[in-house]
Amino acid sequence: RGKATQRGAICAYHGEMDAAARTRRALARDLQSAVTNGELELHYQLQALLEDGTICGAEALMRWNHPKLGRVSPADFIPLAEETDAILDMGEWALRTACRDAAAGRLPGTIAVNLSPVQFGRADLAETIHAILLDTGLSPQRLEIEVTETTLMADQTRGLHILRKLKAMGISIAMDDFGTGYSSLSTLHVFPFDKIKLDQSFVRRIPDDAAACAIVRTVLALGHSLRIPVLAEGIETSAQWHFLLGEGCSKGQGYLYARPVPLAQVPAIIEMAEAVAQAEARTAAAAE
Ligand code: C2E
Ligand code: MG
Ligand code: MG
Ligand code: MG
Repeated sequence: RGKATQRGAICAYHGEMDAAARTRRALARDLQSAVTNGELELHYQLQALLEDGTICGAEALMRWNHPKLGRVSPADFIPLAEETDAILDMGEWALRTACRDAAAGRLPGTIAVNLSPVQFGRADLAETIHAILLDTGLSPQRLEIEVTETTLMADQTRGLHILRKLKAMGISIAMDDFGTGYSSLSTLHVFPFDKIKLDQSFVRRIPDDAAACAIVRTVLALGHSLRIPVLAEGIETSAQWHFLLGEGCSKGQGYLYARPVPLAQVPAIIEMAEAVAQAEARTAAAAE
């Protein structure tokens, strides 16, 4: 009886595995036509100066509106798109759309776009980005490319070569999810970053978790001595904001200011984010 139950459970488990694998295959297939079907959308999340809440830029975050499943999370579809190389068309679409929106004066300051390791592996990446800037008329000084350590570690020499090319064009480079990789320090040492994005896994745990506080202080000290500005990701509470400001962090991004929103909502959300920041600053000043 025990054995039979166990066998049943295993069969059910394999059945589920098959179902999950089938879903993945179907999603991967649907992704191939997501760009041409107009199913992708960019949402924009504001970035602010911690001191006074001045909005200094926005990050473009991809959304997939699947015809049957509705909105699928990037955490689910980006890895799939990377396995099948669909990310190449999708990533190019994201760059072009973000640059077009920014050039049309509909976004504040710098526009940050995430780049997949797969895109980074293409020999024509710099040329593609150059063409997009020409087509959209966006000044390269307003474009920031976000890369992670994984993107750069595959081939350091090549990675360095590409980053230098982009920088020579006037584009800035941000290191995304800093602190979550295997060799964050050596990456900082080798590559010419213009910004460090402190990962939200640390920000989430401040100010109560002493270890997280120590890590955040260390990253801020590192950024300070290397003269690379640090932007804290995932700021949700005023306690987090207050800690980061007190420790000398210059910029931030997170639900405290604004959630990622469609382009049409950006102007309204800028006003709201600045109002929130001013209220925080007043409360902090009153408490001192
Ligand atoms: P990421 O680049 O690190 O983006 C930050 C993620 O944190 C976003 O998730 C954002 O919505 C979320 N976030 C922002 N503020 C807060 C906060 O206060 N609290 C919490 N809990 N979360 C916050 P999202 O939009 O789901 O994107 C997830 C990841 O998918 C991104 O992480 C990025 O790695 C990838 N991704 C998104 N768009 C693109 C794209 O166009 N191209 C590529 N290659 N990857 C993308
Ligand atoms: Mg990012
Ligand atoms: Mg990040
Ligand atoms: Mg991330």
